[in-house]
Amino acid sequence: MLRAVNVGSKSLADYHSIVSRDLMAEVRALAQPLEGKRVLHVNATSFGGGVAEILYSLVPLMNDVGLDAEWKVMYGRDDFFGVTKSMHNALQGEPITLTDEDKATFERYNLMNVGGLTDDYDYVIIHDPQPAAMRMHAPIDGAKWIWRCHIDLSTPHQDVLDFLTPMVEGYDLSVFHMAQYIPPGDTVPEPVIMPPAIDPLAPKNMALSPEDASYIVDQFGPDVERPLMLQVSRFDPWKDPMGVIDAYRMVKKKVPDLQLALVGSMATDDPEGVEFYQRSEDYAADDPDIYILSNLNNVGAVEVNAFQSHSDVVVQKSIREGFGLTVTEGLWKARPSVASNVGGIPLQIVDGQTGYLVSSIEECAARVTDLLLDPDAAKAMARRGKQHVRHDFLTPRLLRDWLGIFTRLADS
Ligand code: UDP
Repeated sequence: MLRAVNVGSKSLADYHSIVSRDLMAEVRALAQPLEGKRVLHVNATSFGGGVAEILYSLVPLMNDVGLDAEWKVMYGRDDFFGVTKSMHNALQGEPITLTDEDKATFERYNLMNVGGLTDDYDYVIIHDPQPAAMRMHAPIDGAKWIWRCHIDLSTPHQDVLDFLTPMVEGYDLSVFHMAQYIPPGDTVPEPVIMPPAIDPLAPKNMALSPEDASYIVDQFGPDVERPLMLQVSRFDPWKDPMGVIDAYRMVKKKVPDLQLALVGSMATDDPEGVEFYQRSEDYAADDPDIYILSNLNNVGAVEVNAFQSHSDVVVQKSIREGFGLTVTEGLWKARPSVASNVGGIPLQIVDGQTGYLVSSIEECAARVTDLLLDPDAAKAMARRGKQHVRHDFLTPRLLRDWLGIFTRLADS
């Protein structure tokens, strides 16, 4: 059954010194006629991953501006999440086919969770494919239903797209990070583009003094007086930690006192992550200047913040990326950034302006070297990066976009 998540409270007023006055006014103006509207967000987990991160900020802010918003997590067991993981990978292009039993498991859990929809809502927002079939099974009511897809559906495995299509047909509107992520054909209703955002006041992103940041980093081993290159990512082949180590080794020939930190969260129940963490450690061999850290070393949100705030250069050498919130987070901390030209990264890094976009290990190493050897230019670029994030990728902008969607649907 659906389980409510306690999101605490946040106040939009706290953001007034961070985002523009115009944006704040726009949010207030859009919120006013929506006062008291009931909003339900449903997703599959309240812990880990970008969706949970966003909802912990977005839902309390929706409440603060006058809506009545809730977030509920669907119930599922391993059999369901096994199917949804395959489905997720297939939707992103892997040639995985779901069996009839898989499909039945998926339907069964969606149907079960619909049973928890006992209240009346004005807007129901279903995040990602896991709860997508709830719409089909829900009683016909006055709510507007929105499917918020956080993944790239541009090259889906056809079988699984065919399974998904009838589920999303009944929604009033669908939302994607980028136009390129909309699936081919006329498969999703009324697609709207809305990139994600980070919360500048969350522990992960709140301002830390340079002293506090280096005090925290120091406790994990790096010499805070020497240059530090950082990648924050799950231990996953698509994040290419070995490529980061290769690039670091190339840079180190020119900047011998360089250190590297690979910070990545890892669930103890994710054998793939554990194995890949191990492979990254083996690849680092016994280089004492490489620090491979994870939540198993007690690296949480504030520690990630400290590493991002302290590093001399932040890299994100992904082979494939959804949006790349770690890039947003690094830019927000005014860090010189070098990242792959994939997924949502080019929306954030304007090459040569707010950081560097790269397409190979060699290019990554060359750009990191450039930034380390010319700190003034690096600083100027990083400042522009922060402004870019301030303008486009902070939670108040996301809130404004959601209110815009509610207004549009209310009028339709
Ligand atoms: N993250 C974290 N600790 C880690 C690794 C990642 O808190 O050790 C966070 C990271 O700060 C970001 C999110 O997980 O907020 C990852 O989002 P992103 O879009 O970069 O990649 P995804 O993991 O969704 O592919």
